[in-house]
Amino acid sequence: MNAPDAMPSLPARSPLEAVDAAAAPGAIELAAPAPRRSRQARVVWGRRIVTVGGDAPVRVQSMTNTDTTDVIGTAIQVKELALAGSELVRITVNTPEAADAVPHIRDQLDRMGVDVPLVGDFHYNGHRLLTDHPAMARALSKYRINPGNVGKGDKRDRQFAQMIEAAIRHDRPVRIGVNWGSLDQELLAALMDDNARRAEPWDAKQVMVQALVRSALSSASYARELGMDADQIIISCKVSGVQDLISVYRALAARSDYALHLGLTEAGMGTKGTVASSVALAVLLQEGIGDTIRVSLTPQPGEPRTQEVVVALEILQALGLRRFNPSVTACPGCGRTTSTTFQELAKQIDDFLRAQMPLWKSRYPGVETLRVAVMGCIVNGPGESKHADIGISLPGTGEAPAAPVFIDGVKALTLRGDGIAQEFHKLVEAYIERRFGAAARD
Ligand code: SF4
Repeated sequence: MNAPDAMPSLPARSPLEAVDAAAAPGAIELAAPAPRRSRQARVVWGRRIVTVGGDAPVRVQSMTNTDTTDVIGTAIQVKELALAGSELVRITVNTPEAADAVPHIRDQLDRMGVDVPLVGDFHYNGHRLLTDHPAMARALSKYRINPGNVGKGDKRDRQFAQMIEAAIRHDRPVRIGVNWGSLDQELLAALMDDNARRAEPWDAKQVMVQALVRSALSSASYARELGMDADQIIISCKVSGVQDLISVYRALAARSDYALHLGLTEAGMGTKGTVASSVALAVLLQEGIGDTIRVSLTPQPGEPRTQEVVVALEILQALGLRRFNPSVTACPGCGRTTSTTFQELAKQIDDFLRAQMPLWKSRYPGVETLRVAVMGCIVNGPGESKHADIGISLPGTGEAPAAPVFIDGVKALTLRGDGIAQEFHKLVEAYIERRFGAAARD
């Protein structure tokens, strides 16, 4: 039998002192997104100007999935996306009928008081549509051009030039949007051939990344040769793999100063699409890469199209890049919370705050900075609630049926009984009116 280990002798210093002594002196550097250094484009409709890039906030955009010839249906969805927080909305312009519908969609939006700029998404026939339908070209505030889908052989440059000339004629910015699903195959083949001649050929994926970046930047250079202002060019290179996207955008940011439209293409449905988009965009935005984002979620059956906007807003808010909605801090719950009371209250408060935001934005300036905490038990409840502007610590299993409420870091009162949810709801409303209503009245 082995002899038991000898008891270690007690250290002269406590473990915490030892850690302090080993750590480098000085304050710990706080993480924050790196500053961005792109040019700034302006996307304009009437008096609404949405700046993209430079010192502008990172913009949120989205895309409809209605048939563009359905004028009313498309206008309603654009309005829903705009109300959810989308600052630009893209619509498909794929046929002469769709092109004819665009000015009517714009008119309908204007009549509804929705001034969100519309972006036209063109593939294959954009050169003809933008030339033959000037009213459509004027109703759109920006054009998306996919260099992989503008034509083949000697038609490619000519048709690309026609689209750029339309943008110049109508004074509209463009997004040169490369997508690996429609990458210029002639360019890719040429780069693969070059690679095969290298003494040490690159990995095929490195060639693909190079082809994406080359396609976008050489198209942008050609647009400038045609007279397009560099500030009016936004670039995107979308792929569906997280690490590939990071590689592509790092390369784009290192090689140019165009404003960058960021998004993981075909991100997928539900949790998978949300997580993949969030991690990819977060890495790049933290590095200061990306001026406008779109989250390409496939809607789940019954899920509103606006979900992609909700996710985009949450990504920017979580990174501290922008504030859109009050934040609700809620613990995940555990064995100390066997009832669903606190989950229901957290959801009710979150839903209530979101539903009120369109109205509150104008009534209560600054309300988006509000922090609410809804916690499940005494372990972290009071501490987390004190960090919030207003927080409640619900009783966990076996605790006395009392819920202390903390306002501005101080315990203000204790709620009891069956009406805790309703009473806390009223307290939040009163807090908002007192704190943010006063600013509006000043
Ligand atoms: S605060 Fe309480 S209920 Fe919530 S996760 Fe922590 S221990 Fe569990």
